[in-house]
Amino acid sequence: MTGKNVMSANLKNRILHVDGDSFFASCEIALDKKLLGRAVWVGGGRRGDGIVIAANRAAKKFGVKTGMACFEAKRICPRGVLCRPHYDAYRDISQKMFRVLEQYSPMLVPVSIDEGFLDFTTMDSVIWRNTTPEKYVREICERITREVKIPVSAGLANSSRLAKLTTDAAKPGFLEIKPGEEKDFLQDRSVRELSGIGKNRQRSLAALGALTFGHVAKLPSPLLKQKFGIWGTQLWLFANGLWSEPLLLEVKDRTTISSNTTLPYDEPEHEAALTFALSETTRLTGQLRREQLQAREISLTIRFDDFSEVGGAHRFQHAQFQNSIINAALEEIFRGIMGGQVKPVRQIRIAMWNLSRLDTQPTLWGRTIEERWGALDEAAQKAQKILKEKLKIDKIPLMTGAQLALRQLDDTHKNPKAKCPFVPQREMVKKLWGTDADPLAHKGDWEKRLAKVSKQAQFNG
Ligand SMILES: [Mg+2]
Repeated sequence: MTGKNVMSANLKNRILHVDGDSFFASCEIALDKKLLGRAVWVGGGRRGDGIVIAANRAAKKFGVKTGMACFEAKRICPRGVLCRPHYDAYRDISQKMFRVLEQYSPMLVPVSIDEGFLDFTTMDSVIWRNTTPEKYVREICERITREVKIPVSAGLANSSRLAKLTTDAAKPGFLEIKPGEEKDFLQDRSVRELSGIGKNRQRSLAALGALTFGHVAKLPSPLLKQKFGIWGTQLWLFANGLWSEPLLLEVKDRTTISSNTTLPYDEPEHEAALTFALSETTRLTGQLRREQLQAREISLTIRFDDFSEVGGAHRFQHAQFQNSIINAALEEIFRGIMGGQVKPVRQIRIAMWNLSRLDTQPTLWGRTIEERWGALDEAAQKAQKILKEKLKIDKIPLMTGAQLALRQLDDTHKNPKAKCPFVPQREMVKKLWGTDADPLAHKGDWEKRLAKVSKQAQFNG
């Protein structure tokens, strides 16, 4: 048996996981109070009536589930309400939630639109003297419900993995796994609950007779190491309540930008496919410019309805950021690889890489073309946002030539699939802390806030 000191050192980390309850459905209720108390689900797909992508507790009671067809949901819950997705609003609500969360810990790591981890490891000396973790977390959750109008659940444990499992067990509400209670908590839980465990590993574990963490804990650790490598060792430590890890925020610079789109139907018209590809390239180029980047290389891959593929790439003399140049290169690749092809197009993949910094401030009166293009793009983005808010429409009010051509083509091409609303971690962190990706750079601010929270906690307690 391991010495007690080693174990307690291992159990030191305290990580909180916070997760919005049926987030999209909760957002719809936050946006429209009339929905309060009703069964609500959000439909995905191009028209917002495809499959259920979120359902609230009231709807779940009727058996409405994520992944179910919306008409089926209506059949089993006739009085429920179907909402179309409002991704922009969800992102705003998400950001408000993270704004509250960041005030409660020096380290916040957002992992999805409605989920994040907070590091509570160093709270003992400042916070827990005046309150308990339980009270502190309940206050966070209540504040989010009050200010952001979104119900959240939370789990506190010695690692982010266990904290996530704890939240799932707590939903709706809060649960804390106190140091030393980890193994008991995990004992009868299925290994299936562990995030990132694949079907293959599940099957291999089942072959060893390990269906629960309790079973895993009893297996010899060298056997697991032999079967699964380092992951096996970690799993054994986890099952025994000995896995503890600090919370790490990894914000890597973008090395590539890409788009992968399966068309709504196999497109026989190759010009239409080109128009779509140009519109996607414009979108990617705009994203790069907003991140102050430019690309040296671009590639295009076309997959046909029989799954055969053609592809090509282009390397620019210098890194590029202008739509006109990048689109011209893309069109050339397209014409080159599609000559003589007759099969309908199923999927279009575009990638740009070999990225470098675009070190210019966008200004319309700039001396270089980089500055002026950047300014145009930024102005278009701003106008887009203002028009959208003022006109309250989801459509794109401003379009580039390729986007306009696309619109005139066909309804189904406008928006071939609902884009995932998750803001990548890198962007979310930038929004929270400005361009500075290092949260510790704001340590001073945070310490002031923490002192305030600590005083409040003292006052309330
Ligand atoms: Mg959630």
